[in-house]
Amino acid sequence: MHNWTPLVAALLVSFGCAYFRTSLRICTGAAAVALIAVGLLAGASWLAIGITAVVFALIVVPLNIDSFRRKRISAPLLNIYQKITPTLSETEKVALEAGTVGFEGELFSGKPDWNQLLRQPVPTLSVEEKAFLDGPVEELCHMINDWQITHELADLPPELWDFLKKHKFLGMIIPKEYGGLQFSALAHSAVLQKINSLSATVAVTVAVPNSLGPAELLLHYGTKEQKDHYLPRLADGREIPCFALTGPYAGSDATSIPDYGIVCKGEWNGASVLGVKLTFDKRYITLAPVASVVGLAFRLYDPEALLGDKSDLGITLALLPRETKGLEIGRRHFPLNVPFQNGPVRGKDIFVPLSQLIGGPEMAGQGWRMLVECLSVGRAISLPSNAAGASRMGAIASGAYARIRKQFGMAIGRFEGVEEALARIGGYAYAITALSRATAAAVDRGEKPAVPSAIAKYHATELAREIGKDAMDIHGGKGVILGPKNYLGRAWQAAPIAITVEGANIMTRSLMIFGQGAIRCHPFVLKEMQAVQLTDYSERLRAFDRALFGHIGFGISNAVRSFFYGVTAAKFGFVPGDKATRRYYRKLNRYAAALALMADTAMLVLGGKLKFKEKLSARLGDVLSNLYIASAMLKRYEDQGRPAADLPLLAWAFHDCVHRMQTALDGVLRNFPVRPVAWLMRGLLFPLGRREEAPSDRLGRRVAAILCSPNESRDRLGEWTYLTPAPNNTIGRMNALLPDAIAAEPVERKFMKALKTGKITARDYSGQLAEALALGAITQEECKLLDHVHTASFEFISVDDFDSRELEAAVKHGKTVLRSVA
Ligand SMILES: Cc1cc2nc3c(=O)[nH]c(=O)nc-3n(C[C@H](O)[C@H](O)[C@H](O)COP(=O)(O)OP(=O)(O)OC[C@H]3O[C@@H](n4cnc5c(N)ncnc54)[C@H](O)[C@@H]3O)c2cc1C
Repeated sequence: MHNWTPLVAALLVSFGCAYFRTSLRICTGAAAVALIAVGLLAGASWLAIGITAVVFALIVVPLNIDSFRRKRISAPLLNIYQKITPTLSETEKVALEAGTVGFEGELFSGKPDWNQLLRQPVPTLSVEEKAFLDGPVEELCHMINDWQITHELADLPPELWDFLKKHKFLGMIIPKEYGGLQFSALAHSAVLQKINSLSATVAVTVAVPNSLGPAELLLHYGTKEQKDHYLPRLADGREIPCFALTGPYAGSDATSIPDYGIVCKGEWNGASVLGVKLTFDKRYITLAPVASVVGLAFRLYDPEALLGDKSDLGITLALLPRETKGLEIGRRHFPLNVPFQNGPVRGKDIFVPLSQLIGGPEMAGQGWRMLVECLSVGRAISLPSNAAGASRMGAIASGAYARIRKQFGMAIGRFEGVEEALARIGGYAYAITALSRATAAAVDRGEKPAVPSAIAKYHATELAREIGKDAMDIHGGKGVILGPKNYLGRAWQAAPIAITVEGANIMTRSLMIFGQGAIRCHPFVLKEMQAVQLTDYSERLRAFDRALFGHIGFGISNAVRSFFYGVTAAKFGFVPGDKATRRYYRKLNRYAAALALMADTAMLVLGGKLKFKEKLSARLGDVLSNLYIASAMLKRYEDQGRPAADLPLLAWAFHDCVHRMQTALDGVLRNFPVRPVAWLMRGLLFPLGRREEAPSDRLGRRVAAILCSPNESRDRLGEWTYLTPAPNNTIGRMNALLPDAIAAEPVERKFMKALKTGKITARDYSGQLAEALALGAITQEECKLLDHVHTASFEFISVDDFDSRELEAAVKHGKTVLRSVA
């Protein structure tokens, strides 16, 4: 026996304990037993075993004696930690403490409890919500003429505004007691998806009052009088709200708003009252030009100490009725030809009474906390839902068009180049819809999903932009030429708007996802930070010691797990799922451990500097995001009863996620500034190299095939879209033609064969058909089918053209007359 065999055995047992995350005491005991047992079995002398055991005990026993460990190890480390930890600004503290932690916390734990995910209730719509989707939403879609809205009116027509108000589309989040619809987040999401599958302008108009804005803020913080007055009026559209935070000098850095209010006495409705004199310059404010009430964020000062002894009270929120004297409102911005109402709001020395502060004077200075807390809910729904609606429609439209449009004698969807783009559309649409469903479900479970909402906002809008790009490419000139026949152009133009609003995407990825995730979701980091805030030293030391040693054990466990999964290519481990998905759960276990290990290492080595290493932080955020997206897809697959037909979509999207995670981690390692640490980490994370592959061409072909013909998987992808083949819905009509277009394909082949014989001499299509029929090459029925498909599909490959004066007239007078040609 080698002298070190018992030690190796003890070490292996310790690794096993680390893998399963036993307590330090159990690990110590198990390692000691292994050391003695292996020593005895291998025939070592008692002396040798005794010496090894003493050395072992000298190392591990002190760690198990709480008082010794605290005094000798944790106390000095606490001193260092207090010195190196960057102090957080009030704004950062508020942002970090806002919201709740849901399943994303499991992903950051390195050892996700999948049962926790799978036990979550299946999100479903109530009967009333379903009826609303099939009733008023369907009717609304039927009324929408997006070309009229985006080109001729640059606004919704009055009857559409009236319809929205009458059916309370603007009050979906307002409780019934105030006259609202009180819809679940899932229903709210479904409504937005359906509307956005047809018109981004209408969808934004509906989304904004139901997102972060006066209603949401009043519900949480409003005084009783404010709620009683405003909520019923907001619910039925008597009031149109907007919320003004952004200004020329405060965009992404919203807390830097220079807009201010001074507490003073002033006149209001003929009486002298205590209030605020406001000076502000806001821009980009959605619905502002038509708003009847403006929610305003500003910094409140009280130089005469009229409210208390603080002169700078901080960010505060107020409601300004449109008729407030001096309010400049009504001018419009023009966001990329998607003309929802949006414009600036300005004011100088405008007076409003304190009763107009949201929540009254008690909430003065609490504005930032109020906004951040509400933002996690609104952001989880509005943009991810709009992105999901556009993506669903992009998938349905691109699949149908690729089947109907023929070039080189074939449906373009059969060309491998187009197939590749279709596969991306299908895979991303599957991912986005699962993601938006997951965040809406989190809101319905009562969570305030701060980190998932940032993930969903960023990834849903980025992936939707990719879908838009591929859809445009597949449609060629058909996507480029604007007009009533174009169903893609406006959605494509809307993509950068979604990228910019509610936290611009570069910042969301670089600063927020990992930044918030690392602190909010990590099982120990927030505890350590909170521990050092404790004023009593012994309490502080005790809390810090607990968090620190938990953290160390956590790090060791993640290192062991990462390495184990790396060398076994994540082929082992107890996980849920079926034959197809078990390996997916194992892969996610691997990347969860890798993320936790790499995140800890980055925080330990780079400390506060990591905050400024945005490229590293963004990549770590990508790993967290893709873990979340992949989990959302697996949950969706389970909730929908494991439909085998969806497996190509799930597989494509899953491999794409895993490949992205590998690329992101590799990027962290290649760019990690402390090279020896990066080398060590590479050995632990990728002991066999980078072996994840992007989705294969074969898999892509299967996804493309799903998009190009009617089937249950495609139906699920197209759920909550407006597919009625109505006159205002080209995609709906094109989709309805798809079965006939497919049935016509074998007949077309027969017809082409007949053409090649040279016996058909007619030049025009109907003449050729008649001759083919006369020659017996096709039957009467087949002839009718070809004629029908040829005539019907002509509309879908047609584009609009304009008399140039008509186009000028559209600009000058908001009118145009159109003529459509192929
Ligand atoms: C159509 C539209 C509607 C809007 N509606 C409203 C509304 O209703 N109410 C309202 O208050 N606001 C609204 N906004 C404002 C919107 O939220 C801001 O546009 C957004 O916050 C970004 O600010 P900015 O445009 O000034 O860009 P900037 O802040 O100037 O950002 C420019 C770029 O720098 C990046 N960046 C900034 N800081 C960082 C950082 N620390 N790390 C990495 N990258 C960074 C951003 O990601 C972005 O890519 C709207 C904007 C638009 C365009």
